[in-house]
Amino acid sequence: MNTIRDLPRAGENPANPGVTAEANWTFQDGVRSWDEHMDLLTTLRLLLEERGRSVRMEGPMLIDTDSSLSLRPLLSSMEPVHKGGVNTSTTIEVKHPARIQSPIFEYQHSSGPDLEHSFREGFGQWYDTDFVTLLEAMLEEAVDCAELVLESSQQEPSWSRRVTLGLPLRMASPVPQPPLEQTGHEFCSCCLFTSSVESFRPLLESHGFFALRLYAARKPDGSCLADCRVNGVPHPEGQQALLQYAKSWPGSGLEYRKQYILIQDK
Ligand SMILES: [Zn+2]
Repeated sequence: MNTIRDLPRAGENPANPGVTAEANWTFQDGVRSWDEHMDLLTTLRLLLEERGRSVRMEGPMLIDTDSSLSLRPLLSSMEPVHKGGVNTSTTIEVKHPARIQSPIFEYQHSSGPDLEHSFREGFGQWYDTDFVTLLEAMLEEAVDCAELVLESSQQEPSWSRRVTLGLPLRMASPVPQPPLEQTGHEFCSCCLFTSSVESFRPLLESHGFFALRLYAARKPDGSCLADCRVNGVPHPEGQQALLQYAKSWPGSGLEYRKQYILIQDK
């Protein structure tokens, strides 16, 4: 919607396209018109509390008490669907006083019969993939996620990075028969990252917190596509590496794999 794109960006990360957390919208479908109120902070707070988190409001942000993560939800686009419903895109900007000082953000693309349902759907998926991984990365050591420690071999200055591997999602049709991978082991939480790790070397060699969104797919006709974002921003080198990875998959037919991965100083 043009009216949303014209509004000034509200997030701290300049690449975050989100503009607002609260607004009143009027919809018209040619037969009737109706109003919907949007309050993303409240929607996200209720979802977090339903999942058992203790949170408090602090200005435009929610603070998750146990992890000290601060969360700022914003609307970035909205599009009514013909004959009912709405498509929405939101972002959630994330900071932590010690571990994530430059805010990162991630998109939630969703749809529903009305705004509230669409936002809840998007935030729920974000919780299950991104937030649970972020919580693990805020612990001294992850409990449920696999982790890697990568260290420089000879270069000076030496570095050591902790990599938290979110749960990998995989969908394949038809389901391939083992052996699955050329790497010699079945698809696991390491595979998307290790297949593209060279493209992330500049990140590994610099300080900071990096959130990687990795996605690779093979279409039924055999053509492949990939998407890679770092802290919400497209990362072409990673995308190329993931594209090559998808081309190496055994079998044929529709398949996609995606994962959220976090890199921080050890
Ligand atoms: Zn693996």
